[in-house]
Amino acid sequence: MERFWERVRAQAMSGKGIGREDALAVLSLRDGALWRLLDITESVRRRFKGDGIRLCSIVNAKSGLCSEDCSFCAQSRRSGAGIGKYPLLTGEEIFREASAAKERGAREFSIVASGLAMRNREELTRVGDAVERIRKELGLETCVSLGTLPASDVEYLLSRGLRSVHHNLETSRSFFPKVCTTHDYEEDVSAVWAAKEAGAWVCCGGIFGLGESPEDRVELALTLRDLGVDSIPVNFLNPVPGTPLEGRRDLSPMECLRIIAMLRLTNPTREIIVCGGREVNLRDLQSLMFAAGATGTMVGNYLTTAGRPAEDDVRMLRDLGLAPREG
Ligand code: SF4
Repeated sequence: MERFWERVRAQAMSGKGIGREDALAVLSLRDGALWRLLDITESVRRRFKGDGIRLCSIVNAKSGLCSEDCSFCAQSRRSGAGIGKYPLLTGEEIFREASAAKERGAREFSIVASGLAMRNREELTRVGDAVERIRKELGLETCVSLGTLPASDVEYLLSRGLRSVHHNLETSRSFFPKVCTTHDYEEDVSAVWAAKEAGAWVCCGGIFGLGESPEDRVELALTLRDLGVDSIPVNFLNPVPGTPLEGRRDLSPMECLRIIAMLRLTNPTREIIVCGGREVNLRDLQSLMFAAGATGTMVGNYLTTAGRPAEDDVRMLRDLGLAPREG
């Protein structure tokens, strides 16, 4: 066992990251080994990212009405969830949400729209206008999550001041057909390549607790490493009534920490941002997500579920001796 710990620490601290077998071993560690694991992941996080924590916030700028059938999503075409459904917000509405996010302490603001792809030119221009105004008047870094954008659209948004493009792979290539049947995994991978090719900072991760195996979790982590994404958002399923996964509860708080740790150790130099589902899945262990390797979190509400008050998150960072980070 000593050899395992030494190897894991050395490979992660070198920046290279651990391999498949060690990543699987991390996911199967008994709860009593958690402190040893966190000692390593905390050191790795500090080595590559210091003590600054990124705080992101989002607006659900276009809700519901999606053509896709992702099983976890309240906005999918097979969801009967009672969520608000509306077309793209006006530029003024998006700007107001960004101002509120800044008030909450967010340093990065993401404009998220449901749907596989935003192909409407007028809508893309509206988002571009909003990005430029948010950047100029509020000084926030901006991100968009608009589906499978081609490189030319990403280039246009970058020319308006955009920094990041978010597009999740959601889960492993192997498990994806059990999650979504209306589009292919490769379409998502191509969107990630397009964003990288255009020169965007790429934020790409997934959601855990859908019924995927430990092997699927590691497969996703290694795919993200191969793609060289800059930032990995981590979501834990918070099953919304009316979705196919309603009532599913697979994850314990300890398991969530092992997933974050596995991602930190396989992708030691990348940002890991813990997003939706953290309150209900990590529960009272939320503050340990940073020791497990998270370098950021989302404040405020998620796409279709409510987050806790942002003041609680800012206080949590202060209590831990951490501070919000610019950029
Ligand atoms: S995750 Fe995105 S693509 Fe899938 S159903 Fe939800 S909004 Fe549509």
